[in-house]
Formats: sequence, structure tokens, C-alpha cells
Amino acid sequence: MLPVIALVGRPNVGKSTLFNRLTRTRDALVADFPGLTRDRKYGQANYDGYEFIVVDTGGIDGSEEGIETEMAEQSLLAIEEADIVLFLVDARAGMNAADQAIAQHLRKQQKKCFLVANKTDGIDADSSCAEFYQLALGQVYHIAAAHGRGVTQLLDVTLQPV
Ligand code: GDP
Ligand code: MG
Repeated sequence: MLPVIALVGRPNVGKSTLFNRLTRTRDALVADFPGLTRDRKYGQANYDGYEFIVVDTGGIDGSEEGIETEMAEQSLLAIEEADIVLFLVDARAGMNAADQAIAQHLRKQQKKCFLVANKTDGIDADSSCAEFYQLALGQVYHIAAAHGRGVTQLLDVTLQPV
């Protein structure tokens, strides 16, 4: 079983854009990886000699009737089955209540989790991303998934053996 990296975050933060960049649209054959279900979108990725599975989720907009903290069930399950979670936020839109709900859930998990501020192209990333430190998930990694900026640096950190 390859390591599983889940992309979570509210809609429109750029999860699918990052998924496509990481997998270059190579869909994983779910059947080859027992334990993964078809509810979420899986892709196989390869970076610097590491192979891993990436999971795209539909997103969490804060309006779902909740198992917990108004998070969508498929996102909760994606977090559960993941070895590593990339929690995406939108550096242009700024922090909102849905981000805070997701962060609250992730802080309770014993899961390797990285806070990733996307869409940092063409803005002052340091000042735009400063507020995300309030989510108390440690370092905020800056990327622009649409252009690939920061993605290899993120993977270098993410895929480091624990
Ligand atoms: P998802 O709902 O989280 O899967 O988000 P999508 O991947 O569908 O992206 C939502 C929107 O954000 C799309 O219009 C993307 O083109 C845009 N987007 C994604 N990544 C970036 C980025 O790095 N920079 C900018 N400026 N826009 C982006
Ligand atoms: Mg999407």
C-alpha cells in the first residue's frame, strides 16, 4: 500500500487543481489499493522517487449537516484513511469559518498535517498568509497550484520520512 495524501479544504481553494498537478491526471486504479473506496477521487503520483496516492475531496463549505463541526462526511473519511493531510486555504479569499471548523477537527487528529495557502501568485504572500497562523496548525506553506509555484518545496517537506 502506497502512502495516501488527502487534499482537504473548503470548495474553491484549489484542491482539484493541485490534484491534477500532482497526478497529471493519472487516475489510480482503486481496485489495486484495497481499503480505498470510490467515493473520493484517487490519483497516483510520483515525485523524486516517492510514489504515493493523492485523494481529492469535494470540499467542506461549512453548511453540511455534520457528523462533527459541520464537516462533510467524505472529507472526514478522506482524513481518516490518509497518512498525510494537506489542508488547503485560499490566500486571496482569506480565512473564514469553514477553515476554522476544519482546523479544529485536524488539531484533534494524530495525523501528519500541513497547512497550505494556495493562490499566492501575484499577491504579497507573507502578509496575506499571516492570519492563517491563527489556525494553530504550525507553518503555513505558500503555493500557487495553478502555476506550480511552491509545490516541489511542499512535497520535499511533506514526503520526508517521519
Ligand atoms: P477546489 O474546489 O478546491 O477543487 O478548487 P479548484 O481546483 O476547482 O479551483 C478553484 C478555482 O481556483 C479555479 O478557478 C482555479 O483555476 C483557481 N485556482 C486554483 N489554483 C490557483 C492558483 O494557484 N492561483 C490562482 N490565482 N487561482 C487558482
Ligand atoms: Mg474540486
